[in-house]
Amino acid sequence: MNLYEIDVRNIKGVGDVKAKQLLRLGISSVGDLLTHYPVRFEDRTEVTPVTNLSDGSMACVTGIVTSSVSESYIRKGLISYKFTVSDDSGSMCCTFFNNKYIKSYLRPGAEYSFWGKVFKKGRKAEMTPSEFEESSLSFCTKNIVPVYPLTSGISQKFMRSIVMEALKEYSGYIEENIPYEIKEKYELCGKEFSVLNIHFPHDAKSLEISRKRLVFEEFFILQISLRRMKSLCKKETGIHFSNTDISPLLSKLSFSLTFAQRRAVQDIINDFSCGYRMNRLIQGDVGSGKTVVAACAMFLAAKNGYQSAMMAPTEVLASQHYNDLSPLLEDCGFRCALLTGSKTPKQKEYIYKGLKNGDIDIIFGTHALLTDKVVFANAALAITDEQHRFGVRQRAVLSEKGGHYIHTLVMTATPIPRTLALIMYGDMDISVIDELPPGRQKIDTFCINESLRERLYGFIRKEISAGNRVYIVCPGVEDGEDSAVKSVNSMYKELKEKVFPDIPIGIVHGKMRPAEKEKAMADFSAGATKILTSTTVIEIGINVPEATLMIVENAERFGLSQLHQLRGRVGRGKTKSYCVLICDTYSEDTKKRMEIMTKSDDGFKISEKDLVIRGPGDFFGTRQHGIPPLKIANLADNMETLKKTSIAAEYILNQDFQLELPQNAALRRYTDKLTYKLSL
Ligand code: ADP
Ligand code: MG
Repeated sequence: MNLYEIDVRNIKGVGDVKAKQLLRLGISSVGDLLTHYPVRFEDRTEVTPVTNLSDGSMACVTGIVTSSVSESYIRKGLISYKFTVSDDSGSMCCTFFNNKYIKSYLRPGAEYSFWGKVFKKGRKAEMTPSEFEESSLSFCTKNIVPVYPLTSGISQKFMRSIVMEALKEYSGYIEENIPYEIKEKYELCGKEFSVLNIHFPHDAKSLEISRKRLVFEEFFILQISLRRMKSLCKKETGIHFSNTDISPLLSKLSFSLTFAQRRAVQDIINDFSCGYRMNRLIQGDVGSGKTVVAACAMFLAAKNGYQSAMMAPTEVLASQHYNDLSPLLEDCGFRCALLTGSKTPKQKEYIYKGLKNGDIDIIFGTHALLTDKVVFANAALAITDEQHRFGVRQRAVLSEKGGHYIHTLVMTATPIPRTLALIMYGDMDISVIDELPPGRQKIDTFCINESLRERLYGFIRKEISAGNRVYIVCPGVEDGEDSAVKSVNSMYKELKEKVFPDIPIGIVHGKMRPAEKEKAMADFSAGATKILTSTTVIEIGINVPEATLMIVENAERFGLSQLHQLRGRVGRGKTKSYCVLICDTYSEDTKKRMEIMTKSDDGFKISEKDLVIRGPGDFFGTRQHGIPPLKIANLADNMETLKKTSIAAEYILNQDFQLELPQNAALRRYTDKLTYKLSL
């Protein structure tokens, strides 16, 4: 019996009206109801004797109703119902408001259990119970009680009662969906036990092991589904490149590729030559050298007679790619061009024409590449750099320009823990560049407060006299309400007028026109300015090897991954580089975060910590990142489980990719359902 196919109206108490209300919670079947997990639990296990009640607490009291219920009118719309409850230790007064049924419900002389808030004046105890029941029951009292997410029309009590009812009727049909071998290995309790106890836990321990199992199950099924889905995508045919020799390009580089870069290039070559469409994510910390890997891919496309496009989120970055790579690629005999918003209409027309008739082999650009006017003669490769700045949709648009079969490569420096990357980019293959080019020095990182500002200015001066350059990043553009937050405008003004009147200083922020930004960055890059004050617009990509000092104002306002990205703007040359985080608030959380920054230079570790501290919501911002909705597992708290399930999923799929073995039949039914949902 498939519980997802049984209409929730089969549950006693659920009619058409309730069914409609439940639908708002996404519940239409018994299966949905049983996976509508409590958001939290209230531990009402302990029964408190009346004399021990303390003021302001929530408590459970079991006692006999020793008075009749007296009704009094307080004001319009407010009627109270009072009665006395006694246990062996004493008596308390109970009050209900506007509950006219209470009189007919309660039988004086009978024993009930009450749960509610306690008010105590001297030795007199009072309670306004939020729930009560006959003391022979232990449904909403004397127990660990679930608290469910609700919607209007559905009360906590009703929700509990229908879940209870569903468990009574259907728990026998709950199917074990984790293969025995995995269950044993990871010491997971049975499915039925876990479902019963996640709703109405027998005790705290049962709740814990049930949750552990259900979290494991959710990630496990998700991972199996994603992996199988990925293999389905693989089936799409792609353009086959027969020439995969990149040595002509490599011989033109002034360095040799690192192992990690070579691995990534090999992954791409394998994709190109297997006949399927490439859909690959290149993950590598800032400065790990992703650009040259992209160059190899574009070189191969061109070598095989196809066009390719590389899109970057900013003009600065797109121009930089163009300036770095086009000499190499042109030298190999391929024609390159740059398309950005700031080109003149005439230049643009020229490029559109060149792309359409195949005169241009390789195009670099920004969002400008996405316009309808961009039409390729025969594109075979779309590359997106710093993909986290683009929506999923924008990436797709670029790929669709080349027809359906175009190879897709996306590059990101947001180091996402591998397991998580698998969830976010479930349909992509991933190459990780986990090695920096040789000769890079560790960037010494310090966290200081205002008291050291003068010394810091001294240090800036010293760096600049030595021929180096300095970034200063502020969280805001203009002064706002919060005077503690440094704005780039006031910082720029202060440095220019008061602190360093003799040093050329630049400013760049998101509110400037593209051409102005461009100029500010170019000036800094060329050394016309020595200090660049900016917002996080310089976070990505920009490459100025002479910059050796990165200063971040109000560092507590930035995420760790973002700080790490900013720090990656220095240490790009041979000179020793530094990062100074200025931070005047010292909450525990901030302290912890700054300590991670000063101690670690591993982007992956930092992002994992960031994720744990801030939770995935903040980590990924408000953007749509395609993380599938999770019902019980939580990416921040359950990273360890996520890793385990990743291994477990791989193990099962290695044995039985099609999930055809009888022991995997139930698992298959669950993953098929999810795979279908994920692929929508
Ligand atoms: P990112 O991965 O952040 O995009 P880039 O591709 O911009 O990094 O590379 C950073 C710098 O490292 C560039 O100046 C690039 O020329 C240089 N670089 C890349 N690969 C190597 C290598 N194997 N050896 C030495 N320098 C390299
Ligand atoms: Mg880059």
